[in-house]
Amino acid sequence: MRTPLVAGNWKMFKTVAEARHLISELVPGLQGIKGVEKVICPPAMALLAAAALLEGTEIGLGAQNMHWESSGAFTGEIAPPMVAELCQYVILGHSERRAMFGETDETVNKKVGAALAHGLLPIVCVGETLDENEAGRTAEVVAGQVRAGLAGMSLDSDNPLASGRSIIIAYEPVWAIGTGKAANAEGANAVVADIIRPALAELFGDALAQEIRVLYGGSVKGSNAAEYFNMPDIDGALVGGASLKAADFTQIVQAAAG
Ligand code: PEP
Repeated sequence: MRTPLVAGNWKMFKTVAEARHLISELVPGLQGIKGVEKVICPPAMALLAAAALLEGTEIGLGAQNMHWESSGAFTGEIAPPMVAELCQYVILGHSERRAMFGETDETVNKKVGAALAHGLLPIVCVGETLDENEAGRTAEVVAGQVRAGLAGMSLDSDNPLASGRSIIIAYEPVWAIGTGKAANAEGANAVVADIIRPALAELFGDALAQEIRVLYGGSVKGSNAAEYFNMPDIDGALVGGASLKAADFTQIVQAAAG
């Protein structure tokens, strides 16, 4: 019932020329894979070129961050209408932005509201640090991030976007990101099933909580991707490092197609 989604977070890698090259390698392989929503999220500088290259393909485009205001004196920031001109998705609340750039649950919440208002599908990242994990605080931290990040969002019938498709969650344990220490698939599935979906149900009701896609992220590779995709509550992946090589990313998308 939930269409699997695999998104590549290119982080601060690839110039425009390099992005064009990677996209030209990705498109032929990804185009043939059906039944999976495919998304790439290059750096902002490359979004214009990427949008042109992806036109007419079934590959979606996402930004890695954005401001919540529609315009204004916010030097260096990117506004939702600018993102919406080129993209269908936006990653929000990535742990690197939380740890290094002052992102908080409050700013994530404003950004999610702005994304929905501008017709963008937010990929909202949540996840506990190693210290929080070892202190047994995973449930409290992850549920807290879901509740605070999505508080006040309307997915009800007054909203033309109303459906569980409007929001995507990425469960990314911080200790698994870029470390090669991927979370155990059963453990990640338990966090989604026992912590994230119940928190979504509190906010939106049981039916919508079952419709919302929840991805796993953290050292996903071609060789381990199927373990996650076989889990009943994991609906795809947010992929960092392995999204920078066409063969690796294509292998992961292929695994999601089953
Ligand atoms: C990420 O950046 O969201 C991520 C999961 O990175 P990696 O796949 O490299 O761990």
